[in-house]
Amino acid sequence: MTSALTERARELDVLHAATDFRGRFRLPAGVIYLDGNSLGALPQGVAEAVADVVHRQWGNDLIASWNDAGWWQAPARVGDAIGALIGAAPGQVVCTDSTSVNLYKAVVAAARMRPGRRVVLTDPDSFPTDLYVTDAAARDAGLVVERVSPADAVARIAQVGDDLVLASYSSVDYRTGELWDLAEITRAAHEVGALACWDLCHSAGVLDVGLDEHGADLAVGCGYKYLNGGPGAPAFIYVAHRHQDDFDQPLSGWNGHATPFAMAPHFVPAPGITRARVGTPPLMGMLALEAALKAYDGVDPAAARERSLSLTGFFLECLDVLVPELDVATPREDARRGSQVSVRHPQAYAVVQALIARGVVGDFRESDIVRLGFAPLYLTHGDVLAAAEHLRAVIEGRAFEREQFTTRATVT
Ligand SMILES: *Cc1c(COP(=O)(O)O)cnc(C)c1O
Repeated sequence: MTSALTERARELDVLHAATDFRGRFRLPAGVIYLDGNSLGALPQGVAEAVADVVHRQWGNDLIASWNDAGWWQAPARVGDAIGALIGAAPGQVVCTDSTSVNLYKAVVAAARMRPGRRVVLTDPDSFPTDLYVTDAAARDAGLVVERVSPADAVARIAQVGDDLVLASYSSVDYRTGELWDLAEITRAAHEVGALACWDLCHSAGVLDVGLDEHGADLAVGCGYKYLNGGPGAPAFIYVAHRHQDDFDQPLSGWNGHATPFAMAPHFVPAPGITRARVGTPPLMGMLALEAALKAYDGVDPAAARERSLSLTGFFLECLDVLVPELDVATPREDARRGSQVSVRHPQAYAVVQALIARGVVGDFRESDIVRLGFAPLYLTHGDVLAAAEHLRAVIEGRAFEREQFTTRATVT
């Protein structure tokens, strides 16, 4: 059976040879990296670009680089490069702050765009920061948060009707990898005159969610996951063109001012997406992200999605043959799957540690999830099969019972 899978992995890698971009990354030998959804791998050219920022742009040219190296325009430039991967035409995405901060800005701005309405819907299973920040923004803007699964969002949106401000959801569930229907939920929100905000942390770089095509209003997402921007890379925010004049976000910092260098005593928002900026951008991280995005040069997002589905689909196939007893938490239908496969196991933390000891890097998520992310640009079907074989060895050998794998580190 395994030899049939080996043959199939080989065939699939030949079939998908045109989207194998592993050569654009610097990965350590002997590692199968399935954690690109937490911290993307290092693309070629980033180290050199950062060295240039430090030595030439900063060290030699000093403050002149704000103009000469285009530092001031970096948030817009990087924003547009990200926009190309998420279906946003130029001028609607800016690279700034963190996802947490951008979500706060988006929720408060949404409240101001729909005065008199009170309700925000969000997913009870959201990534925790989304829950905390949505609660905080709602408190500050006088809204109430209802936690409703995206599976029930369309029905609940219709019931809340003209009291709804915003449906705020992640496009992909960070634990199970379930892909929600962005088009459908956005349409339902619009039908009652409300807005939709999408968290793209687990979609940007692996599936083109089509923000413009589906009429999304607002979106946020990370730079350090599938976009490979490096640890703590800045995030992004999308505001559709039609809302930009009304986008009144709560953090009125000088980078979002219409005339920042006039040093005026009162805030006047800049036109366009620039008003979503707040303070001085973290240029080292932002320019690393800009260099990292070159890994996507000439990559059709639809082709990356096709490769991602092939990798996760093949992994599910391998599990069915090699470890059929495993409880798979990720939907099998392509249309409902992001770019990861998660399995549940009572000793999930130790399973992940035992995999890491074998060179297969995934991560653990509370309470029982082994999460394996498949970044399409640098993984092959051969990697996928090898990962499934290691998982089988860990399960069959009960490696998860060994004490060395059960002690928890600070960052899980
Ligand atoms: C990774 C992730 C975040 C992280 O937010 P930060 O502000 O960068 O810490 C937020 N939301 C979701 C859904 C995520 O997956």
